[in-house]
This record gives sequence, structure tokens and C-alpha cells, in this order.
Amino acid sequence: MDALRVEHIGIAVKNLEDSNALFKQLLGIEHYKVEEVASEYVNTSFFQVGESKIELLQATADSSAIAKFVEKRGEGIHHIAFEVEDIHASMQDLRENGFRLLNEAPKRGADNKLVCFVHPKTANGVLVELCQTIREEE
Ligand code: ZN
Repeated sequence: MDALRVEHIGIAVKNLEDSNALFKQLLGIEHYKVEEVASEYVNTSFFQVGESKIELLQATADSSAIAKFVEKRGEGIHHIAFEVEDIHASMQDLRENGFRLLNEAPKRGADNKLVCFVHPKTANGVLVELCQTIREEE
């Protein structure tokens, strides 16, 4: 699929404010934004670490995938996101190679991205996110 870099690592947390303070202490930097993704029932915050980011995710509803994750497995690493140049081409590539995608078409994610998730069952138990920066025309 031509992954360009690790764009971010997503970490599920119970309380975004508490975790923002914790990660500030841990990393020595402030988060640079907080953004709600209403369609996914999550509130997110981002820390820039070199060329990659840490994305903290807190559920805003019990039906949120993050709420279910935290309930089942506790707080922790939820997904790894790889940046791609062309998400449609990458999705097609992965499908042809037998990976199961969790969404048929790219969705709008946080931080001006089009995103798609790969089923962890087909990726060694890792929830993989593809993300592509939204260009002017999209
Ligand atoms: Zn993500």
C-alpha cells in the first residue's frame, strides 16, 4: 500500500483532560489541538512528536468503539495510523491482498484526514488506520 510514515499512534483514554496533563509531563510538550469527531463519538487531542503524532481518544458515548475498547481491555494503544498518498488506491491494494477493511469508503477523520481501518484479525491483531490528508478538491 506504500505507507509513507507512521502518521500517529492512537491511544484510548478514559479522561482526555487528565491524559493531556499526563502526556504533557511524559513528552515534555503540550497537545496542539483538541477535536471532536462527532460521527465516531470521540473527543481527540494531538501531540506532535517529530514527524509523527500521538492521538488521545476519549469516548463521548457508550456506543463509541473507544468506550467498548476501554471497557474490554482498559486504556492503552488502540491503533497505528500510516499515512498514504492515495487512500483509494491503498484500499484497493489491501483488498486485493486479502485484507479486510472495516469501511467500504474512506471516512472523514480528525485533523483534516480521510481515513480507513483494516480489521485487526487480518493484521496480526493490530488495528491499522490508513490516512490521507484531504486535498482541496476532495
Ligand atoms: Zn487515528
